[in-house]
Amino acid sequence: MNAKLPVRQVDALVIGSGPAGLSAAIYLSRANLNTVVLSGMDLGGQVSITYMVENYPGFPDGISGEGLVEAFRTQAEKFGAEIVFDVAVEVDFSRRPFVVKTYGEEIHARTVIVATGATARKLDVPGEEAFTGRGVSYCATCDGHFFQGMDVVVVGGGDSAVEEALFLTRYASSVTIIHRRDQLRASALLQERARANDKIAFIWNTVVTEILGDEAVHSLRLKNVQTGEESLLETKGVFIFIGHTPNTALFQGQLEMDERGYLVVDARMHTSVPGVFAAGEAADPHFRQVITSAGMGAAAAMEAGHYLENER
Ligand code: NAP
Repeated sequence: MNAKLPVRQVDALVIGSGPAGLSAAIYLSRANLNTVVLSGMDLGGQVSITYMVENYPGFPDGISGEGLVEAFRTQAEKFGAEIVFDVAVEVDFSRRPFVVKTYGEEIHARTVIVATGATARKLDVPGEEAFTGRGVSYCATCDGHFFQGMDVVVVGGGDSAVEEALFLTRYASSVTIIHRRDQLRASALLQERARANDKIAFIWNTVVTEILGDEAVHSLRLKNVQTGEESLLETKGVFIFIGHTPNTALFQGQLEMDERGYLVVDARMHTSVPGVFAAGEAADPHFRQVITSAGMGAAAAMEAGHYLENER
């Protein structure tokens, strides 16, 4: 660890500022624990770029993702949590207190809650990286308005793909969902809404094998996985929603994780290292909801509190 960085001691360090991290911070700071939250690259995580959250209790008319994050943050700060706009770059969970190095400081924490979330998965095809931001997007809320009156494509068949396709119909003149099977994974309600929407069409049993363009995307090379037939589809916008990868690379070799990189936690959010807890999508491949992440954050914080009491 770099000795030149200023060192500070805290009771609890939360790594990540999505619903899990901020909920943990509310519980920790309200229990009078000196709590620091590392925001990560984006305060609020994935939900902060969600246009509307309709299924978080307490908001019968829905609330914007940004608004919900702001409310979480205000509540955490009200109880004394300090939100630091920095990221964890190195951790050492073999020492006590735990040591977490950021760009700006070295934090010594008696307990740590890992709430680093997950990141949109990439298709991994030629052209995807080159045209990201120039027709390739992973966020309909952020980029949808650039495609006013255009024909766009959504790749994927889960809740995200269908929900975002529905959102894109506000701007685009048509939205074609390309799915690798002939059945959507999305919930029945979303499927029903998509099928009832005149602007949405489907291409089944098909994958995107290449994204083509010059200055920006102009077409996609497609392959039917049953017949092997290849085709070109003209579009200026392709939105990719094919799942997520947990942001846990930093903890490789320090915390137990499954074969996909999700942190292994028990029913009380304990990781493989006593005193280190995990919450939210970094440890949840299944539910991935704001409310489940927030619940995991609260549970992790309560367990962290018990851990510190027992330590005394
Ligand atoms: P997901 O449920 O894992 O779905 C990913 C989709 O992408 C699947 O249809 C999958 O196809 C497809 N896919 C995966 N890799 C692919 C590849 N390389 N090429 C082409 N297609 C690929 O992910 P998600 O939609 O992001 O949802 C994740 C979780 O969040 C789910 O539990 C979901 O219920 C939840 N969620 C809920 C809401 C809501 O409640 N409103 C909204 C968004 C997300 P296969 O179907 O063939 O596997």
